Amino acid sequence: MPQSNAFTSGSTALRDTPEADQGSTLSNAAAVRNTRQKEAIRAAILAAGRPLSPEEILQAAQRGVRTLSLATVYRNIASLQRDGWLQAVTLPGMPARYEVAGKAHHHHFHCNECGKVYEMEGCGFEFHAKLPQGFTATAHELFLSGRCAACH
Ligand SMILES: [Zn+2]
Ligand SMILES: [Zn+2]
Repeated sequence: MPQSNAFTSGSTALRDTPEADQGSTLSNAAAVRNTRQKEAIRAAILAAGRPLSPEEILQAAQRGVRTLSLATVYRNIASLQRDGWLQAVTLPGMPARYEVAGKAHHHHFHCNECGKVYEMEGCGFEFHAKLPQGFTATAHELFLSGRCAACH
């Protein structure tokens, strides 16, 4: 689990003032464009309801802002992570996906056919691993893979 979890929730409302505040360094037009790009990217991630790769974010957000480029998506991913709004989902051996930060504990499902990653609400897994005496487990990571409903 990324460390960003601890301090992400609750503070996003303060961060909504976009780059437009840096009026001295950005022209108004550029600031408006940046804001629209960021909003389109946030909307795409929220609408998806599952972790998205940068390419998937680009595809979805381009419906709002046609001129969006992959470089812009990467720049906004970094910025939204700094804001604490977005966090990376890393599954072993796969490029990172991104989801809204600060969600309750949950797991992910990777479809081997279409490559999409889905969110599975909650946990529900019972672990019967026998810990060595004196050990305490405080976290676990687990993801499922298989075929999603659309690929069946
Ligand atoms: Zn699938
Ligand atoms: Zn769990």
